Amino acid sequence: MSIAERLNQIRSRITDAAVKAGRDPQTVRLVAVSKTRPPEDLLAAYRAGQVVFGENYVQELTAKTAAITEPLEWHFIGHLQSNKAKYLAGLVTLIHSVDRLSLAEEISRQWGRLGRSCDVLVQVNIAGEATKSGTTEAGALHLVRAIAQLPNVRVRGLMTMPPLFDDPEGARPYFAELKRLSELIAAAAIPGVEMAELSMGMSGDFEAAIQEGATLVRVGTAIFGKR
Ligand SMILES: *Cc1c(COP(=O)(O)O)cnc(C)c1O
Repeated sequence: MSIAERLNQIRSRITDAAVKAGRDPQTVRLVAVSKTRPPEDLLAAYRAGQVVFGENYVQELTAKTAAITEPLEWHFIGHLQSNKAKYLAGLVTLIHSVDRLSLAEEISRQWGRLGRSCDVLVQVNIAGEATKSGTTEAGALHLVRAIAQLPNVRVRGLMTMPPLFDDPEGARPYFAELKRLSELIAAAAIPGVEMAELSMGMSGDFEAAIQEGATLVRVGTAIFGKR
């Protein structure tokens, strides 16, 4: 199957999952996760109507933005070292993976140099897995409050990567928990903070994530094939 065909399949599965959950399919955006994929693959997806691409590695992202002149929209979804934030300034429209104040401070500083603000999601490690990034669930509200004090960063929601399960139903409680946490943070009504976005769900479990409230699903393998 071609990338365009797989994309169309994913889109109809997204629509079906949203409708089944009683949601407007327009409220779910597909982020095509293109790590390790050559620019030709991204362009094939772009020609098939895909606009938002998620990348995990700074160097790979900057190389692709230099190689591709079409107006793709870039999201950064991987673990980010603070000293690399400067390379992303002005290139990405959303960073999904802010998990500590020091990183948010550096993002604010770098976007401030451009006279702009960076939209970010706070990554939460709901399961508390040692191998995964993300703030703890207990620390999330505190972190959001601290980031809200920074001049050039806007918190737009939360992101999570649940543990891997063979059965997508295994991830569902983690998606539901991220939704619950976002409602709790929204209820705190922190000035400048929005809980509009929930980035959750990947190739194996995006339908369950949509049913639990995802507004951004990050799908790689199901579009581009095995890495
Ligand atoms: C690689 C990756 C994805 C996509 O995973 P697939 O299983 O290929 O869909 C989503 N989110 C993050 C943070 C990733 O690193």
